[in-house]
Amino acid sequence: MAEVKKMPLTTKVLIGMGLGIAVGLFINLLGLNSAGSFVNEYVVNGLFFIVGKMFVTGLTMLVVPLVFFSLVTGVLGIGDINALGKVGGKSFALYMLTTAVAIAIGISVAVVSGIGEGANMASAAAFSAAQAPALSAVLIDIIPSNVVNAMALGKMLQIIFFAILVGISILMVGKKAEPLARLIEISNEIMMKMVNIVMAVAPYAVFALLGKAIADLGLNLLLDLGGYVGVLIFALLLHLFVTLMIVLKVFSGMSPFVFLKKMREVQIFAFSTSSSNATIPVTLRAVVNKLGVNNSVASFTVPFGATINMDGTAIMQGVATVFVANIYGVDLGITGYLTVILMSVLASIGTAGVPGVGLIMLSMVFTQVGLPIEGIGLILGVDRLLDMIRTAVNVSGDAVVSVVVANSEGKFDAAVYNNPDAGVLTTDSLEIDEEAELEIAQVVKETHDTKD
Ligand code: ASP
Repeated sequence: MAEVKKMPLTTKVLIGMGLGIAVGLFINLLGLNSAGSFVNEYVVNGLFFIVGKMFVTGLTMLVVPLVFFSLVTGVLGIGDINALGKVGGKSFALYMLTTAVAIAIGISVAVVSGIGEGANMASAAAFSAAQAPALSAVLIDIIPSNVVNAMALGKMLQIIFFAILVGISILMVGKKAEPLARLIEISNEIMMKMVNIVMAVAPYAVFALLGKAIADLGLNLLLDLGGYVGVLIFALLLHLFVTLMIVLKVFSGMSPFVFLKKMREVQIFAFSTSSSNATIPVTLRAVVNKLGVNNSVASFTVPFGATINMDGTAIMQGVATVFVANIYGVDLGITGYLTVILMSVLASIGTAGVPGVGLIMLSMVFTQVGLPIEGIGLILGVDRLLDMIRTAVNVSGDAVVSVVVANSEGKFDAAVYNNPDAGVLTTDSLEIDEEAELEIAQVVKETHDTKD
């Protein structure tokens, strides 16, 4: 029994993932998922849906308070305000650069493979275009006109902006603000504990999320669009295992193998939820506790990356653009491709990492280069699966940049990075320390008694 209890969470999550995929495939291949059937009503859209949705909502619930408290704590702990500016500048530059490289990879792989050439496919579904937000609007929108509103709507850039301001102001007030600084630090610790609690149910939730996703997947469609799917997955893996790992190795000197092993859990979360945003608590936890990035850097780079850095999404946009252009026989030429790169990089800023947002951004790109929006209808059906994979690449990019920036700022602990046991979560991590419990009860009792 003790053995089972000590099993690391990652192992359990991996088991949940494997079983979820197997059960999903079983349901899908046997056609048990037909509309109105028992399995469809009560298992896939009943149990799986409810468990999965509750979990993702639970993670999302943590995002705003966690980002706020950890970022204020981070600003307080950074020691020197100029360093904050450097962290911001470096991470922004790296995020934009890796996104641009990602989309260039997407375009190149797609062009070389020639996907979609000579194909004649009818548009499968209607898709309406979204307007690209003007850069001026994106910039103005960084400042919240109402903080409560920004938090209620989970507007990440606005929350980041406000949290940094709060941190700086606390530093400016100085000694008098010490109690608040402590309170925020403790709140941050409490939020991190809450992450552990929510993560404890992850194995079951991941099972449910994947069971439903795979059961719902149109496998036929996947085969029909095999070229597109194959090329896209190849480009995504190329970026994850080659580009990002080169960036990691060259700029931080750290081992890509250790990185990939420690990031497995985060990638599974991203894969199952298709949302970099909902994954923020897990990414932040891993980047700090497993990869050794100081919270003063990670609390900024992780939520910032989840919002503006989407390498996987950019790759999808590159591949999809070439695919659709080939199908419609449109020659984009080098200017067209450069516009695509620029547009995608711009579109990724200020677009939060939530499921399916990549397609909305793609419609902006298509409008810009004059490709028919209906083209998106062609790939709509397979996007669910691809969204899962690209989200895993997105969060990996955020973590790589966090390590590189922290390392360059001297806010990185290589001993933690290289320690295989660092940050590993087991069910033991959830136990309440009896002594601490008694202490808290005593404090509460004393406060109560003095009131009487
Ligand atoms: N789901 C992706 C993310 O959250 C965004 C996308 O490509 O749709 O990072």
